[in-house]
Parts: sequence; C-alpha cells; structure tokens
Amino acid sequence: LLSLRNVWVEYGDRVVLEKVDLDVAEGSFVSVVGPSGAGKSTFLRVVLGQEVPTSGTITLDGQPLARECGPDRGVVFQRYSVFPHLTVLQNVMFGLECTKAPLLARLFGDAKKRAADEATAMLQAVGLGDSLNLYPSQMSGGMQQRLAVAQALIMRPRILLLDEPFGALDPGIRADMHVLIRQLWRDFGLTVIMVTHDIKEAFSLGTRVLALDKRRHDPHAPHRFGATAVYDLELRKDEPAPE
Ligand code: ATP
Ligand code: MG
Repeated sequence: LLSLRNVWVEYGDRVVLEKVDLDVAEGSFVSVVGPSGAGKSTFLRVVLGQEVPTSGTITLDGQPLARECGPDRGVVFQRYSVFPHLTVLQNVMFGLECTKAPLLARLFGDAKKRAADEATAMLQAVGLGDSLNLYPSQMSGGMQQRLAVAQALIMRPRILLLDEPFGALDPGIRADMHVLIRQLWRDFGLTVIMVTHDIKEAFSLGTRVLALDKRRHDPHAPHRFGATAVYDLELRKDEPAPE
C-alpha cells in the first residue's frame, strides 16, 4: 500500500531519518516506538505529506504521494485542535463539507442532511452518538479524542495515522480507546500507523512494531549526528494479542 524508498530527512546538519526503506501492507497495524527525538513524528509528517523528505520517494499504491494531506490519509494527534465554537456534530460535518460538496449545496438542502447523517453515523461508531450537540469544552479528554478520531475517519481514509493519541489520557480511558481503535481498524479495514511511548500498547495493538533509535555518532561523517536506525519487527499474527 505504502512504500518508502531511501527516504532521508535532514534539517541542516541534523539527520533525522536516514535511508528509510519500508513497505506497509494494506490492513496492517504498525506501531512506531522510540525515544524522544528519534524522529517518530517526523516519520508521520512525511507519510502524511506535511513534510517533504530531503531525498527519497514515497508512494501510495505505486503513485507518488500528494503533497498535501489527501482524503486517503486521516490523522489524530495527542492533543487535537477541535473547533471550540462548533458542536461535536458540526465539527465532524465541517471535515466533510470542506471537501465534498459545493458551497451552496453544503449550506442547504439534501447535501447538508446527508452530511449530517454521515457525521452522525461516524460519531455513533466512535461512541459519541449521545453527544452530538455538546461543545468540545463540555467533554472529557477521552471524548475529545473520540471526536478527533471521528474527524480523521469522516473522509473514509484508507490509512489512519496516530501520533501518541492516548498519551494524555488516564489508564482506564486508554484501555477503552484501545478497544475502539482495534474495532475501527477491523470494521473500516484500515491500515493504521500509530506512534506511541507505551511499549505494551505498541505490542498489544500492532501487527508490526517499528523501533526508531538514535544511531550513535558516525566517525566517518562527523558533521552528522542523531541519525535514526529503524528496527523492524514483524509480529507473526493476523490479529493483535488480547489486552
Ligand atoms: P517525541 O517522542 O518527543 O515526540 P519524536 O520521535 O517524535 O520525539 P521528532 O519530533 O520527529 O521526534 O523530532 C526528531 C528530531 O528532529 C528532533 O531532534 C527535533 O528537534 C528535530 N526536528 C524536528 N522538526 C524539525 C524542524 N522543523 N527543524 C529542525 N529540527 C527539527
Ligand atoms: Mg513526536
């Protein structure tokens, strides 16, 4: 589905990703772990198309990746900025309306009703069916992350990118989110790439774990430091282990 070939990301003298070669199979759940500063978020931004690698190619189904975040990729960050002045339902409809329908159609009539129906169904899928008319400030952190997931999925992306999505949540809420993500992964046939600091989470949810590590100083290239080694562990299972 997704291929990275000889991908490098450098900021000045700082090599963050060094010669990354990677194929992500459709339907896999890739957990990405590694110490702070290893380049996990950089890796996600590159896959998202938010950041252009210094060199190398990234393809989606054999086609070069579009520069901007396309409808094929949805993303959830640790703290997602939902629109505070919009209700839960409006937040999700906004994602749909922006891209799908022409202006007039999206303000009035059938298109608006269809958008509302679609957004409602998605919110039900993430467990927010009873909270459509709340504002984000009226919801807990876990509920806000559910809303962020609904926003990420409303365009029906094939790839869901998660950057420490549960990092700020209490353990009990995290466990609920694990159940949700696993269910969405299956029900929507998603390919998931999830960055996490939690090794247990990485192994329990992932079908594959990528460990990014800061490589030691290279004496042959003293101006380069902090380059990243990628350890790739394919878990031999079709489904993630139970919690
Ligand atoms: P964390 O676990 O703390 O989120 P991370 O693995 O996600 O860390 P990145 O955010 O990808 O790490 O950053 C990797 C390295 O690249 C860091 O040393 C960071 O300072 C550097 N870096 C990231 N973005 C830029 C930028 N735009 N310009 C310069 N350096 C950058
Ligand atoms: Mg990060």
